Amino acid sequence: MAAMNLARLIAAAADTIAAHAEELTALDQAIGDGDHGLNMKRGFEAVRAEAEAFSAKPLPDALKAIGTKLVMTVGGASGPLFGTLFLALGKEISAVPDRTNLTAAFGKAIEAVAARGKSQIGQKTMLDVLQPVHDALTGGKTAPEIADFADAAAEATVPMKALRGRASFLGDRSIGHMDAGARSTALLVRTIVETLEGQP
Ligand code: ADP
Ligand code: MG
Repeated sequence: MAAMNLARLIAAAADTIAAHAEELTALDQAIGDGDHGLNMKRGFEAVRAEAEAFSAKPLPDALKAIGTKLVMTVGGASGPLFGTLFLALGKEISAVPDRTNLTAAFGKAIEAVAARGKSQIGQKTMLDVLQPVHDALTGGKTAPEIADFADAAAEATVPMKALRGRASFLGDRSIGHMDAGARSTALLVRTIVETLEGQP
């Protein structure tokens, strides 16, 4: 991935998070503490501020720098988890990844998030989008299909009962609302695949 493309990806991701910050906050207000939109916006604006420096680095180093920045700036439970995702991705990915390497690296990154969060699929968290997206990548799905998979996976958290994170404190009352971190993950997945698709 060329350096310029990474800068474009960062800008697109930060734009998406900014455009959806209120929606993410509202989701987190329903079954959490209502800070997810602000947390994500703060983190992605901090990454945007250093987009030029980050995208001058080789891709693995750039992803690690993004992960570190997210850990430092997002806060909450999601900061260390999104940070871990990018840090682990940076450790596993090649400088010029093909789909096989990207899929493998993404799989390892999801394992790192699950280990960090002591969480697994089905607990109404960001993992409930990350894992289906990985499955779609493994299954050879196209970029638009992957984006749709991510949206459907976020939607599928609505009937789930939260077993991790703040929403789990609500027990059965967490049922009937979409998980905020699942939604932000789906938004990022769509933005990334659509930005990559649009590139020459
Ligand atoms: P906080 O819960 O500390 O207020 P945020 O609101 O920023 O942090 O993030 C909440 C999101 O983080 C949840 O919607 C969920 O997707 C994700 N999350 C929380 N705890 C875990 C966990 N243990 N494993 C995976 N994801 C988690
Ligand atoms: Mg919160």
